[in-house]
Amino acid sequence: MALISMTSMLRKALDGGYAVGQFNINGLLWVQAILQAAEETKSPVILAASDRLIDYLGGFKTIQAMVASIMEEQQVTVPVALHLDHGSSVSRCKQAIDAGFSSVMFDGSHGPIADNIRHTKEVVQYAHERGVSVEAEVGTVGGMEDGLVGGISYADLNECQRLVAETGVDALAAALGSVHGKYQGEPKLGFREMREIAEAVRIPLVLHGASGIPIAQLHKAIELGHAKVNYNTELITAWAGSVRSMLQFNPSAVEPKVIMTPAKEVLTVKIKALMTDLGSVGKA
Ligand SMILES: [Zn+2]
Repeated sequence: MALISMTSMLRKALDGGYAVGQFNINGLLWVQAILQAAEETKSPVILAASDRLIDYLGGFKTIQAMVASIMEEQQVTVPVALHLDHGSSVSRCKQAIDAGFSSVMFDGSHGPIADNIRHTKEVVQYAHERGVSVEAEVGTVGGMEDGLVGGISYADLNECQRLVAETGVDALAAALGSVHGKYQGEPKLGFREMREIAEAVRIPLVLHGASGIPIAQLHKAIELGHAKVNYNTELITAWAGSVRSMLQFNPSAVEPKVIMTPAKEVLTVKIKALMTDLGSVGKA
């Protein structure tokens, strides 16, 4: 099966009251683990490459070819989207699209709303002509160093409405208290604002920084219109834990296959558990 945009899978999820997981790629092993978990649970899935890691991963074309080849090798039958996460400029989004990514996020949330709208619109036009979906962001998701409070700025209702109406974007990351990286203390999402924004924009919402959000809050966010949920921290933490204990308890281990295979299995198990939390199991 070929890569598809995330438009139809998110619409289906929004109507069905569940969410599709976005799992970030950090290398070949991640692609294998994510696709295996999706196939075994019959879940639609979004594989994402973060803009800041594109060079590390070998460039846009390498990433696209790696995902497409492994889909073929592993005989994947579930719907799969390949998404650029936090695309930093219009040209980076266009590069991803030209390389065969089926979805992009343009993150113009750090600049003025007028610029965010103008640039998002340009990306949407280029993407839609090529059957590619687009996610935009309004407000600021908290940063890794900033802890729970610092760095978060809530998405403004009017700005969300304007951006969606003027750009025709497919999904919206409206920042409402979530944080990239580890939470300090209990996360508190802005559910009142979430309800207002979801009712106003009527497109699938995206939850960034889902690692560490308690299941009850996760389910409420899905109920209130989140059809895409992004995970990275939980996966890299599980991966690092596996590699660390493998080396600690097997000090003579040197073969990468021996060191990395348990980590891949840990990732697959973790991703399947997250897909269960999201309700996407059996929805492929
Ligand atoms: Zn994010």
